[in-house]
Amino acid sequence: MDRATLPRPNTFAGLSLVLDRIAERRDESQWIAEQARSAEARYLVLDSAGEAFLRRDSEALRWLDNREREQWLGDRDTTLLGMAGQCPHFLVVLDEPGAATSLEAALDARRMSLRSAGLQLAADEAGLFAYAKGLSHWQRETRYCTGCGAPLQLVAAGHRAQCTNADCARLHFPRTDAAVIMLVEHEGACLLGRQAGWPSGRYSTLAGFVEPGESLEDAVRREVAEESGVIVDEVRYHSSQPWPMPASLMVGFIARAVSRRISMRDHELEDARWFTPEQIASGIADGSFVPSTALSVSYRLLAHWLQQCAGLDLDALVAPAMHAR
Ligand SMILES: [Zn+2]
Repeated sequence: MDRATLPRPNTFAGLSLVLDRIAERRDESQWIAEQARSAEARYLVLDSAGEAFLRRDSEALRWLDNREREQWLGDRDTTLLGMAGQCPHFLVVLDEPGAATSLEAALDARRMSLRSAGLQLAADEAGLFAYAKGLSHWQRETRYCTGCGAPLQLVAAGHRAQCTNADCARLHFPRTDAAVIMLVEHEGACLLGRQAGWPSGRYSTLAGFVEPGESLEDAVRREVAEESGVIVDEVRYHSSQPWPMPASLMVGFIARAVSRRISMRDHELEDARWFTPEQIASGIADGSFVPSTALSVSYRLLAHWLQQCAGLDLDALVAPAMHAR
C-alpha cells in the first residue's frame, strides 16, 4: 500500500497502515510469551493517568526493550498491541504513582498526556499512544461483571475481560462511544458554536454523542437541532478519528442546513453563529477568531470546508497568528 497516495489521516488515525493487531492470535499464550521475550519487542508504558513516557532529547516515545522491561517493570502484566513488521509491540500499565515517578527518573524521560503529545509525536507514535490509552482506560474501568458483580480477569492478551464466576463466565469487550461532529454549511457560510468557559474567540463545529436507536445521520440532525435550532437535510461522511479521552470515536460529517435560522434550544452552547470564510480569515488574523486545536477532526472539517468553499488554507492562516502570540 502506498501511503503517499492516501488522504492524510486525522491525528491518531491510520494505524492500520503500520500495525497488525493480529487479533486472531490473542489467545495463543505461548506464542505471545515468545514475542514478549524477543529482542525485537518494544514496550510502551503508561501511568495511572494514561500519560506516556517521552524521550527528553526528542519528540518521541521512550519505548523499553525487553531487557529494560525486566529490569524496571519485573513481571507485570503486558497487553499485546500488535506487530509492526517483525516487531511486537506491548503495553504495560504502571498503576502505582511512585513507580511511575521512579521510572521517569531511571529512564531520564518525561511524562506527557495524549492531548499534549498528539501534535508533537510522529503520526504512527501518536496513533499507538492513542490505542494504548484507550485500551488501558477500559482495562482500568472494567473490574467487575455487569451481569453478576464478580471480579473480572483480563484474557485474550488484555483485549477481553472474563467474569471469574464460573456460573456466569460472561465476556466483556472494550467499548467505544460513537460521537458525531459536523460542519454545517449554508450557501457559503458555516455554523460554529462555543461553550461558556472556552478561551476567548474559540469557535468549533457542533458535536454530540450518538444515542441508542440512532443512525449517525440521525444523530447529526438531532444534535444540530438541539444545540442551534438549525434544520439539516443532507449529511455527508467526511472522516473519523479515535478520541480516547476517554473512550470516544469521533465521526466527522459535512451537513447542509435548509436555512440560517438559529434558536438555541438546550443551551449547551453559549453562542452559535454563521461565519463566512472571509470572516474566519480576518478573525484569525486579528485574533478575534480561534479555531479548535489542530489535533481535532473539528479543525480538519473546517480546513476542508475553507479549502472547498474559498480556496483558503487554514494551516497557512493559523501559522502567522501562532507566531505572533
Ligand atoms: Zn459475571
